[in-house]
Amino acid sequence: MHTIDPSTGKKIKSYAQTSRTKVDDILKNAQKSFLMWRSFSFKDRGFMFKQVGGFLRTHEDRYASLMALEMGKPLSQGKGEIEKCAQLCDFYADYTDEFLSDHEIKTDAVKSYVTYDPLGIILAVMPWNFPFWQVFRCAVPAMMAGNAVILKHASNVCGCAIEIENIFKEIGFPRQLFSNVIVPSEKVKDLIEHPLIAAVSLTGSTQAGKSIATHAGGVLKKCVLELGGSDPYIVLEDADIDHAVSKCVASRMINAGQSCISAKRFIIVDSAFKEFEEKFVSQMQLQRMGLPTYEGIDLGPLARHDLRDSLQAQVQKSINQGARLILGGKIPDDRGAFYPPTVLTNVKSGMVAYTQELFGPVASLLKVKDEKEAIKVANDTVFGLGSAIFTGDLARAERLSHELEAGACFVNDLVRSDQRLPFGGIKQSGYGRELSRDGIKEFVNIKTVYIK
Ligand code: NAP
Repeated sequence: MHTIDPSTGKKIKSYAQTSRTKVDDILKNAQKSFLMWRSFSFKDRGFMFKQVGGFLRTHEDRYASLMALEMGKPLSQGKGEIEKCAQLCDFYADYTDEFLSDHEIKTDAVKSYVTYDPLGIILAVMPWNFPFWQVFRCAVPAMMAGNAVILKHASNVCGCAIEIENIFKEIGFPRQLFSNVIVPSEKVKDLIEHPLIAAVSLTGSTQAGKSIATHAGGVLKKCVLELGGSDPYIVLEDADIDHAVSKCVASRMINAGQSCISAKRFIIVDSAFKEFEEKFVSQMQLQRMGLPTYEGIDLGPLARHDLRDSLQAQVQKSINQGARLILGGKIPDDRGAFYPPTVLTNVKSGMVAYTQELFGPVASLLKVKDEKEAIKVANDTVFGLGSAIFTGDLARAERLSHELEAGACFVNDLVRSDQRLPFGGIKQSGYGRELSRDGIKEFVNIKTVYIK
């Protein structure tokens, strides 16, 4: 397997696949380490994760450069990602005791309580779009709860996977408690079925989610699925349009639009549409595209050339179906996998831009009559990850938030992950939650102890 620099199309490095025998060895070591680690107190585990946070902050430049090289993330965004991982380490180091301490319940027993035992080795199948954050978001709570983690990272970010494994080695975690294996996606089935794997967590596409859920179901292992999305952002007639536009552009453009919780469909009521469209297009035009290592750029290349080509095919198909291209939409003459900020308007039900996830800097604008139609269109999707409403009437927003079929609804702001709040989706965006006190309970045995 080899990695490619998306800014140039040149090969970065080749990696040997981890053999079946080596995978067995890693899992045996991880299991031994798990049996030791599970007896550590939350305080001791937290002490180690505080050091991980410090280590990340010290080396943020190196990790940001590696992400820029392997998947094209601008350096400033890469540093932000590393800081977010460090904050996550601090958060679970400080709060796991509160989240997972035994919880006594009065019954007719002398003593009865709920306790949270770890499960064992968790398989983490992770994507390339936030190569550090996605891994930490899964691994930190799982390990703070007492589990071991084996990572199968996306094939285009093998270097990031190795660096993450090295952090745990440097800090002195038990041997291979956190390990990385380099295997193609076809081998994930074998990993899931391995007797030493207790459960699996995937962040990735809906297609990968269906495959992993099928294999995990076949051996009755729990899985958490964080999948794709096509987040609707509703702009109502009483919204502050300048504010809505700036949040909508920021959400669509983060990570060159390659985020599961990027705003993807902008649903604007008729009376606000013209003003929103004009201002939105002007702000999209201001986005600076360039090499991810240049200061002050907003978007680098997409992570892979094939992803850029699929995005272009989706845009072209939508245009053929009647959508109107009002900005971008043309692949620049460059060896890199660049794709410009693009806006499609006149997007209607049944078009590709309406039904599929567009994983790149492409915005779809949809005009609706009123609030009722806005909710109908927002929910007219197989996905259910994030959603947002822009309005000056907060009571109205709270009422509507209950009608949106999504794992989160943000009002007058863009959807983002926050370690204090649960994160996840419904429908084909997956199931289970990450982050917060809810996420850390996904990979534990919620055990009843009853003493008489
Ligand atoms: P992807 O192709 O599904 O890959 C994600 C991971 O799954 C990679 O490690 C990949 O390995 C592996 N994989 C792919 N197909 C598989 C299969 N059939 N069986 C087992 N493993 C498989 O997704 P992506 O293109 O990297 O990421 C983009 C997608 O992830 C988007 O849909 C995005 O919305 C979603 N996403 C969701 C969240 C969330 O929290 N909900 C966050 C970020 C991204 P290889 O690289 O070796 O193929």
